[in-house]
Amino acid sequence: MLDMNWIREHREEVQRAADGKGIRLSVGELLAADERRRRLLKEAEQLRHARNELSREAGIAMRAGDDERAEEAKRRARGINERLAALEAQEAEAKRQVHELMLLVPNIVSPDTPDGASDADNVEIRRVGEPPVFDYKPLDHVELGVLHDMIDMPRGVKMAGTRSYVLKGAAAWLHRAVQQLALDHLAAKGFTLLEVPVAVRGEAFEAAGFFPLGKDQVYGIAGENLWLAGTAEVPLVSLYSGETIDLAEPMRLAAASACFRSEVGSAGRDVHGLYRVHQFAKVEQVVLCRADPELAEKLLQDITANAEEILQMLELPYRVVAVCIGDMAQKTYKQFDIETWMPSRGAYGETHSSSCLLDFQARRANIRYRDADGIARFAYTLNNTAVATPRILIPLLENHQQPDGSIRIPKALRPYMQGRERLKPPG
Ligand code: AMP
Repeated sequence: MLDMNWIREHREEVQRAADGKGIRLSVGELLAADERRRRLLKEAEQLRHARNELSREAGIAMRAGDDERAEEAKRRARGINERLAALEAQEAEAKRQVHELMLLVPNIVSPDTPDGASDADNVEIRRVGEPPVFDYKPLDHVELGVLHDMIDMPRGVKMAGTRSYVLKGAAAWLHRAVQQLALDHLAAKGFTLLEVPVAVRGEAFEAAGFFPLGKDQVYGIAGENLWLAGTAEVPLVSLYSGETIDLAEPMRLAAASACFRSEVGSAGRDVHGLYRVHQFAKVEQVVLCRADPELAEKLLQDITANAEEILQMLELPYRVVAVCIGDMAQKTYKQFDIETWMPSRGAYGETHSSSCLLDFQARRANIRYRDADGIARFAYTLNNTAVATPRILIPLLENHQQPDGSIRIPKALRPYMQGRERLKPPG
């Protein structure tokens, strides 16, 4: 959410952001609707004032025994009431229209955000680690999963439909291990660990900037105003909605959660294996801080570095890209994606998304803090994946496979894998 006065003064910039992000919004229409709402509000106020004057006049006339004048004043007040009722209905409708259009307004993007229409236009910033060179035909993660009897796609699909899977034995351990490693890493960086609801109210999605745009990506619970979050960002951002909090120091929050996504619109894309599934687990970092652009930039670098350190602990080659405007969500001001090398794709695949939102979410969620002068201001928010699994199992299994079909467990992960150094195919 942006401030209406700000939008009025920066209408071209906001329209550019909407166009660049592919959001169908006419800023001119929004401003005209707001103009109408304000005009109706003013007219209603004038009528209320006139009606109060007439009531006062009727009272004076009655006390003076002038019944005729009192009746005349009352009659005119009744007439005003009828006009007022009609005007109030129009004003409520105009208010609703403005609110609906406001929910479509995108965040502007940072000056260093690349132009572009899709992820193909994202700009590589750095590469870390070397993709492995195999002198044999490597297996993909599904083949490795079958060989090790640890990934069962057919039985997942049998009970839950397409884009479903079962992890068994070592893969189930790995799924837990990467999450715990990520949580321990974040805890060491001063993050507070939370366990949060994943079925949350529509208002929480709206506050975090996921509704109304993006509603089709979310599964609802029948008969309830409860929706399954596709990321712990939703509950973590909504945690302090409507509150004034202490942000003398940035607030660093982390949660592991089950994530659910309908993946509407991705029909036919990434249908093989564990890349794009309906249910996965994610450790998410959310940071709230003062409305200080320099601090926010530093924190964006920090949360990106946290994810990179986790990938380095997993000994995986990756690259960081600056996300272009056309690949950005409505709420995002600046974004880096981290893509990890996936041998079966012969390419880097997105595994992390690191975003700065300035006060876009906090305005919607009404999260404030008091600055040094005691003035209440909207907070800034940031978020990044720490690890998302089972997608991360794709590079983990594929990059660390050995010619004999075994899989090396990176050193940092071994304490979370009962000390195992290698997974060997059974038999
Ligand atoms: P996002 O919250 O959309 O930025 O996604 C963060 C990370 O979650 C992605 O980089 C992926 O690693 C993971 N992820 C998102 N959607 C899916 C999905 N449908 N299946 C598996 N992993 C996903």
